[in-house]
Amino acid sequence: MKRFFLLTALILISLVNGLQAKEEHKPQTLFVNVKIFDGKSDQLITGSDVLVEGNKIVKIAPRIATDRMAKIVDGQGRILMPGLIDVHTHLMVVKSLDEAIYKYEPGYIATLATEAARRMLMRGFTTVRDAGGPVMGLKRAIDEGIVPGPRIFPSNAFISQTGGHGDFDLSMSYLSPHFAHQLDKAYLFGWTMTADGVPEVRKAVREVLRSGASQVKIMASGSITGAHDPLDVVEYTPEEMRAIVEEAEKWGTYAMAHAYSDAAVRTAVEAGVKTIEHGLMASPETLKLMKKKGVWLSTQCLNYSKNVEDFGVEMPANVAAKFNQAKKSVAQIFKLAREYGIKMAWATDGLGSLEVLDTQPQEFTCRKKYYPDAEILKQATSLNGELLTLSGRRSPYPDGALGVVEEGAYADLLIVDGNPMEDINVLAKPEKNIRLIMKDGRIYKNTLKPEKN
Ligand SMILES: [Zn+2]
Repeated sequence: MKRFFLLTALILISLVNGLQAKEEHKPQTLFVNVKIFDGKSDQLITGSDVLVEGNKIVKIAPRIATDRMAKIVDGQGRILMPGLIDVHTHLMVVKSLDEAIYKYEPGYIATLATEAARRMLMRGFTTVRDAGGPVMGLKRAIDEGIVPGPRIFPSNAFISQTGGHGDFDLSMSYLSPHFAHQLDKAYLFGWTMTADGVPEVRKAVREVLRSGASQVKIMASGSITGAHDPLDVVEYTPEEMRAIVEEAEKWGTYAMAHAYSDAAVRTAVEAGVKTIEHGLMASPETLKLMKKKGVWLSTQCLNYSKNVEDFGVEMPANVAAKFNQAKKSVAQIFKLAREYGIKMAWATDGLGSLEVLDTQPQEFTCRKKYYPDAEILKQATSLNGELLTLSGRRSPYPDGALGVVEEGAYADLLIVDGNPMEDINVLAKPEKNIRLIMKDGRIYKNTLKPEKN
């Protein structure tokens, strides 16, 4: 009996020692000689170093002492800032939706998406909210550190009514696959879920959350590119939308809604949707309601500032007409959103090809027409970081803040040439101007002079 206790005590001591040893061996990186943009402040912090331990920022102070083994990164007086966040991507939509779903092998699409994720990280985007598509596999491989890419807040399958923006069936049969109880790749591979009526939408939300989504993406209005739905259509009744919101909230998270028309935006906002995607035709009254309820506007400047010809694909006449109709509102929506002080997200919604996704940083330049540079910088860092906290208990990254340089935040950091607070265009040329990219404490790019140590 005595020997048994001794043995147990020895095992416990060695376990505790093992744990302590692990704690002590978290690798350290110390950033020195940097000016800090913390994501929130209008002033750069000078004279402080930033210590990263493991995957967290643990200390921001002058002259921090480190382990002997710590890696020292000399920023040579440059700006250190949070990694960028885009809250409307579709990493799996690397071809047009119908090609990605129906034409190509899933492996081909996944391979292109892996490359899209790598390029996105190398443009300085350390976190994205993916607004629909079967992205869980890619997310898993990124989170396991196997392939490079941003952190992903996945929405997974779109939730759409029959004939809505997420009803992708292109066979032009008389019945939608859902209605006809047919198997369809869009459903089988987790691209979309059509659901009609309160019981079905509740089930669809539960399915999406079961698949690991950190929020649910619903289609609340007609779309520009949709196969079946004109732009003006309001999709989902107030009852259906309230049921969606309620189910999401039971899981501690929220619903984001694709919505163009004023009626669609209003229905979504009244039902408790937390972020409006696009929202281009929202009226001043609806925008004021969004302000009052603290609802985010996740709209895009670049996409709607282009001309039909700029997309490099032949657009069917009805799609081009819908695009031109939406585009008319872009200046107005940005101006009113700023005037009313609506929470503005930074989001690109690039899709269709790797080349289109590569235009992501041009969103910075586009927004200069509507917001001061420092404000755009906050949108793509701390403000988007705040939006992502809406995922609450379903956040895939619950242990630290995102989009800020703060003690306890995740170590997602950039070192850049120039000052993006004064000229946001610095970030529009990431290859040249972003000199260091760290995500989760790991350095993915470093073109600064060789480190000491
Ligand atoms: Zn989208």
